[in-house]
Amino acid sequence: MNSNEIDIHKELKKYFGFNQFKGLQEQVIKSILNKENTFVIMPTGGGKSLCYQLPALIQEGTAIVVSPLIALMKNQVDAIRSLSSENGIAHVLNSSLTKTEIAQVKKDITSGLTKLLYVAPESLTKEEYLNFLQTVPISFVAIDEAHCISEWGHDFRPEYRNLKGIIKQLGDVSIIGLTATATPKVQEDILKNLDMSDATTYKASFNRANLYYEVRTKTKNIESDIIRFIKQHKGKSGIIYCLSRKKVEAIAEVLQVNGISAVPYHAGLDAKTRAKHQDMFLMEDVDVVVATIAFGMGIDKPDVRFVIHHDIPKSLESYYQETGRAGRDGGEGHCLAYYSYKDVEKLEKFLSGKPVAEQEIGFALLQEVVAYAETSMSRRKFLLHYFGEEFDNETGDGGDMDDNVRNPKIKVEAKDQVVK
Ligand code: ADP
Ligand code: MG
Repeated sequence: MNSNEIDIHKELKKYFGFNQFKGLQEQVIKSILNKENTFVIMPTGGGKSLCYQLPALIQEGTAIVVSPLIALMKNQVDAIRSLSSENGIAHVLNSSLTKTEIAQVKKDITSGLTKLLYVAPESLTKEEYLNFLQTVPISFVAIDEAHCISEWGHDFRPEYRNLKGIIKQLGDVSIIGLTATATPKVQEDILKNLDMSDATTYKASFNRANLYYEVRTKTKNIESDIIRFIKQHKGKSGIIYCLSRKKVEAIAEVLQVNGISAVPYHAGLDAKTRAKHQDMFLMEDVDVVVATIAFGMGIDKPDVRFVIHHDIPKSLESYYQETGRAGRDGGEGHCLAYYSYKDVEKLEKFLSGKPVAEQEIGFALLQEVVAYAETSMSRRKFLLHYFGEEFDNETGDGGDMDDNVRNPKIKVEAKDQVVK
């Protein structure tokens, strides 16, 4: 048995208090410790952070972690600090730091105390920081949310495109890319842009066996249909996604009038109201949040029992992320989407105001949503295929958990003929 193996289990327990690795974590960590370029694709909640945090903590030098959001970085730094008695074990380097704070960060890195340094991609381009980082030992560079590098992803950040050039200036360090975006196109883009075709890829399954997928045709009666659905799930937590703020307000009001406890959530509400509504949902003071896509990032309510799409999302990637908020605890999660071609045209109209390249990508992504909504094959099979994964409904977990499998369209027609 390899001594590495024994050690990483011990270190896992020591730093994180966990007895076991989750999914592919162990393989990924070994790959990182072997200084290999590594590409990690795991769904949200899969445990990607630990894949780079553990090797960073047990190796010489400082690991640089590139992350797109200051809030995410701060959360992670706080979490790491809580595992240690040394505040300096993890730092964020960004433009909001004072001169004194920057001096402290540099001191902690130089002394070898800092194991994880979180940076926004634009900070990494700063001469001053880059010059400094060239003088200290770097264990590896992890690029979290690596899909930000791709225009095919849902969160393109042009600054991510410069990363490879910058990392090269740090010398011969290995790169770890991590993302929850599983589409083959985005993966190709990531590998190409980071120039790491040699990377070992670790991809977890994206199958969410406990989620039931259903698409209903959107009609004039959608509101009463939604109310009936919610009343059938009385007292259960759910999220309803709408395209516009106006629709969010309108639906929340309709629900309230019909005796359903619901609050709206969108970026047009002030921060205090948003926080309040989010807390009400988390604390179960209300059952339902009616929201735009502004709601959900980082929200970890394990017992969301349904996610309704009042309007179709702009890509299957978003659909997967949004429906993925249901059934985190492994219990029931009903994902109901309403579909009408009129909504597709609306989304196309939005897109037509955008730059041409963005338009083309937007249309292509939208076509996949249309195909999903109109398919008569298993929704789960369709979704997983979109993520480059083959699924067999006979043998796969959750193989009968969608409307098309439960009520095949062709069979229904055949039955109708018999009755007539
Ligand atoms: P991701 O970045 O893939 O969305 P996170 O890194 O945020 O996921 O991890 C999700 C959750 O899983 C966290 O609460 C984390 O503490 C937990 N987790 C990670 N690894 C393990 C493990 N080996 N055992 C138990 N829980 C874990
Ligand atoms: Mg993450």
